Amino acid sequence: MSIRSVVVVGAGVIGLMTARELARAGIDVTLIDRGSCAREASWAGGGIVSPLYPWRHGEAVTRLALWSQSSYILLAQELKDETGCDPELRQKGILMVDVHDEAEALSWGHHHYRPLTRVDRAFIQEKEPHINSAFESAMWMPEVASIRNPRLGRALRLSVELNPRIRLLENCAVEAFQLEGERVSGVKTASGEVLSADATVIAGGAWSGELMATLGFKLPVEPVRGQMMVFKAPVGLIDRIVMLDGRYLIPRSDGRILVGSTLEHVGFDKQTTEHARQSLYETALTILPDLAQYPVEHHWAGLRPGSPDGIPFIGAVPGCDGLYLNCGHFRNGLVLAPASTRLLGDLLLERTPIIDPAPYSVSGRLEQD
Ligand SMILES: Cc1cc2nc3c(=O)[nH]c(=O)nc-3n(C[C@H](O)[C@H](O)[C@H](O)COP(=O)(O)OP(=O)(O)OC[C@H]3O[C@@H](n4cnc5c(N)ncnc54)[C@H](O)[C@@H]3O)c2cc1C
Repeated sequence: MSIRSVVVVGAGVIGLMTARELARAGIDVTLIDRGSCAREASWAGGGIVSPLYPWRHGEAVTRLALWSQSSYILLAQELKDETGCDPELRQKGILMVDVHDEAEALSWGHHHYRPLTRVDRAFIQEKEPHINSAFESAMWMPEVASIRNPRLGRALRLSVELNPRIRLLENCAVEAFQLEGERVSGVKTASGEVLSADATVIAGGAWSGELMATLGFKLPVEPVRGQMMVFKAPVGLIDRIVMLDGRYLIPRSDGRILVGSTLEHVGFDKQTTEHARQSLYETALTILPDLAQYPVEHHWAGLRPGSPDGIPFIGAVPGCDGLYLNCGHFRNGLVLAPASTRLLGDLLLERTPIIDPAPYSVSGRLEQD
């Protein structure tokens, strides 16, 4: 059946970019979110356009990440031109200090043709004179960028609003799916409205499992809380992303500096904790002692869509005609979004896929009640 209309459930970066990708191919899209666009994990994240310590991830994550990274500059420029909202892509590089597996890092960089070198204290101090002078070495990746994800969300929302092929429904929760035999032919909303389409895509982030449960499927996508803080600092304290022991500082163009993040398995609880506040504060000051002079402006938490090995689910749901998934991007949804949404578009519209879709296939990764 050739697909002309699609309902996308969830308007985080994954749902927004999915809608945009499909509309560009001439599909009529209804994009639905129970809240506002990009206000959950896609807002709460840090915006590093790379998996953390990229050599520690499997090939499935790497392949999506590399494709996405090569498309982000164009995407950011397009969104700025189209909407007037600049997502602030900053390609200033990342310094990962005191890394224990340098040989693996160097070998990964060599194998994937990514600029990645080991640098010494003098190099670190030259690039970032304000950070802790005790750091002796770092892995340096000059091409890694960051994006100001709340602005990315805003720009994507404006872009879908401007697109006549996309109907955006906010504050509209999807409660169930519309079935015709074994075929999913749309969704039912909390207000009882039925929205029909040739295909339905679940892009519900950490809540995707709840939606699949209404159909009797057990999807292993679990919420993983992450807490972050932002310091109101002046421009110029640091210019690059700096990582230490799994945590990071991310500078924004206006001087603000984010520190993240925690990794907590506490269900759908989005509250912040005093313990995390103190621990993030200590991390921030360990990396950049001068931050003690500046106030913490905000502390928040978001729920990542955790999945086994962080490998997203991208593709058709077997035994459920018309239903597709694009979810489970765990810690990397911002970086993986362009490739994931393009790949889903390829599969849905039967185009040649940008990369081998097998590792992300839903088949064999679901349990049925
Ligand atoms: C602290 C933290 C730091 C992070 N840092 C980074 C980073 O530096 N780089 C990176 O690449 N990634 C990062 N991430 C991960 C990234 O933010 C996520 O992987 C990504 O945002 C997931 O996008 P999504 O669209 O799948 O989910 P979300 O953004 O959570 O969107 C899901 C949407 O679905 C909607 N929804 C759910 N159920 C329903 C329903 N029944 N009906 C209608 N709508 C529904 C929700 O309202 C929500 O808007 C971070 C995440 C956190 C929390």
